[in-house]
Amino acid sequence: MTGFAFAPMITPSLPVEGQALRFPVRRIFCVGRNYAEHAREMGHDPNAEPPFFFTKPADALVQSGATIPYPPATADLHHEAELVVACGKGGANLTPEAALDIVWGYASGNDLTRRDLQAEAKAARRPWDMAKGFDRSAVVGAIRPASDGMPLGRISCHVDGRCTQDALISQMIWSVGAIIAHLSALVELAPGDLIFTGTPAGVGPIARGATVSVQIDGLSPATVTIV
Ligand code: MN
Repeated sequence: MTGFAFAPMITPSLPVEGQALRFPVRRIFCVGRNYAEHAREMGHDPNAEPPFFFTKPADALVQSGATIPYPPATADLHHEAELVVACGKGGANLTPEAALDIVWGYASGNDLTRRDLQAEAKAARRPWDMAKGFDRSAVVGAIRPASDGMPLGRISCHVDGRCTQDALISQMIWSVGAIIAHLSALVELAPGDLIFTGTPAGVGPIARGATVSVQIDGLSPATVTIV
């Protein structure tokens, strides 16, 4: 008989709004740039390129309401308010129309970023993993089933009650269907995959002690306190 060398890790998961269910998380993909004004604030032409992707480990997941330590190796932790898509089915080479069929639900999210490490990585043409995929870097709220509709309204971020990001989901350069279609041409998507769909303008630093809340019309907030 064989077994594991030690107890296997517990699958990261998220609560589902209004249901006694948890959504098991397999992988976390993120879109690099998906709102024109944010692309411009980071020094890029929003019309110049197709969507690109990076990842975070699934166990970087933080449930809304948590208090987490200020991450190591940075002096410039930033918030990025984002709509998160939760896949309930898989697929490869999906059309934008077929792509929506794999969506299980939506959530609000905060793509926490060590901006100083990202700037260094960009300058040295190195990967973003340590800027984006660090421990406790993916804050996500409760998932609302897709049957309740796709969120298209307001997305905002508040740091200690002060509004720092305020945009409309409908201003995304690439729609949810287009994002999934592009991503599914690069990897075969699977049930449990989350996709952070990019952040609007207004990203900025989070001080120690601050509470950051991402709110999307119709969804539960993704709130985290950094100590
Ligand atoms: Mn982001």
